[in-house]
Amino acid sequence: MAIAYLSLGANLGDRKAMLEAALRGLEGSGQVRVVKASSVYETEPIGYVGQPWFYNLAAEIETDLDPDALLTLTKQVERELNRTREIHWGPRTIDIDILLYDDLVTNGNRLTLPHPEMVGRRFVLEPLVEIAPDLKLPDGRRIADLLPSVSAQEVRKVAG
Ligand code: ADP
Ligand code: MG
Repeated sequence: MAIAYLSLGANLGDRKAMLEAALRGLEGSGQVRVVKASSVYETEPIGYVGQPWFYNLAAEIETDLDPDALLTLTKQVERELNRTREIHWGPRTIDIDILLYDDLVTNGNRLTLPHPEMVGRRFVLEPLVEIAPDLKLPDGRRIADLLPSVSAQEVRKVAG
């Protein structure tokens, strides 16, 4: 059984419902157990800025799937939730990224672990630190220690 951490984001439609549906979709496979899910955060878009704010959360999961099969499952759940992909970094109903999979380091053409952009993204790190304050990257850096140096981005917990 592996432990993996995911980052989920949505900025179209009912954003909170999308995040919840994605977690249910992953569990519905019967091969993923969501151990912890963070609060939902509303976050300012980065990259392509002329788009609605995102809702983001982080989740810790347990799975017997290997990393490649986990990626296939996340893509399938994205598809089921009708994700549109017209603009890179643009609006999407749901985005599911695999941040960490145990202590695995890999750089394939389909999957890179740890997720290459996680260390610079406040919308990923804040929810992750909430559920895993002592979590470390495979290179030993503590996730919580990265937060002070990431660039400013509005990230706030959604009430309820
Ligand atoms: P982004 O998440 O950057 O907005 P996409 O979700 O469209 O963009 O992802 C683009 C591709 O990134 C995916 O098709 C996937 O194959 C690849 N990828 C590489 N590493 C990862 C990872 N750790 N988690 C999720 N996708 C990854
Ligand atoms: Mg993605």
